[in-house]
Amino acid sequence: EKRKAAFFAPTPEPEAKSADSSSTDTFTNFRLSRPILKAISDMGYSKPTPIQVRSIPLSLQAHDLCVSAQTGSGKTLAFLIPIIERLLFRPKTIPATRVLILVPTRELGVQCHSVALKLSKYTDISWSLCVGGLSSKVQEAELKKRPDGVIATPGRLIDHLHNSQGFTLDGIEILVIDEADRILEDGFSDELDEIIKATPKSRQTMLFSATMTDKIDDLTKLSLARPVRLFVNKAT
Ligand code: ADP
Ligand code: MG
Repeated sequence: EKRKAAFFAPTPEPEAKSADSSSTDTFTNFRLSRPILKAISDMGYSKPTPIQVRSIPLSLQAHDLCVSAQTGSGKTLAFLIPIIERLLFRPKTIPATRVLILVPTRELGVQCHSVALKLSKYTDISWSLCVGGLSSKVQEAELKKRPDGVIATPGRLIDHLHNSQGFTLDGIEILVIDEADRILEDGFSDELDEIIKATPKSRQTMLFSATMTDKIDDLTKLSLARPVRLFVNKAT
C-alpha cells in the first residue's frame, strides 16, 4: 500500500460521521481558515451542498476520494476548498507546483480557474491555467514560476511535459481528475495514464465523475489508494 506523508495521516474511520444534519450545515463547521471563509462568503455561498458536506471533511483528512455526483451538485468547491485549506495549512518552503487539476475541456478549465482565483483571493496561493487555445509560450513561462496549482486539460499538459524544459510533476501532492468520465470518453485515457504516472505515488487523488462506468472503476482501482467512495444524488 502506498505511503502517505505523515502530515496527511488519514484518520481510521472515513465514513464514521456521515451527514444527516443538513439543516445545520454551514461552511464554518469545516473549521476552515479565515481567508477561505471570507472568500466563500464574498462569493455568496452560505450553506454547503450535500456533496460538499460529505467530501470536504474527508478531503481535508487527505483521503483519496472517488465521487459520483450529477452535474450542478457543486463539485468544484468540493475539491477547491480543501485544496486551498491544505495549501495554507502547510506553507511551502520553495516554489513548487503542488496541485494538479485535470479537466476535460478548455471551457471547464477556464471556469475552474476563475473559481480557484476567487477562493484564493485573500491568500497568496497562485494558479495557472494550462489549456488549448492559449499561447504555449506564455504558459511555459507561467509554469516556470511554479504556481501552487495548475488547472489543465490532459492534451495541453502532456505538451508541456514533453516540450517545456524543466517542467515536471514531481512536486504534486494533490491530483484531481474532474469529470473523469468525459476525459475518458474524449479519448484521453493514454494521456491520463501518463500524467498520473508522472506524479508521486504519495499524492492524494480525488476523482470526480457524473457517472460510474467500468472504465472509471478501473481507473479508480489503478490510481487511487483505499479511496472513500461517495455517491450523492438529488435525493440525498
Ligand atoms: P458540478 O461540478 O458538480 O457540475 P459546480 O461546481 O459547477 O457543479 O457548481 C454548480 C453551480 O452551483 C455553480 O453555479 C456554483 O456556483 C453553485 N454552487 C456550488 N456550491 C454552492 C453552494 N454551497 N451554495 C450555493 N451554490 C453553490
Ligand atoms: Mg464540475
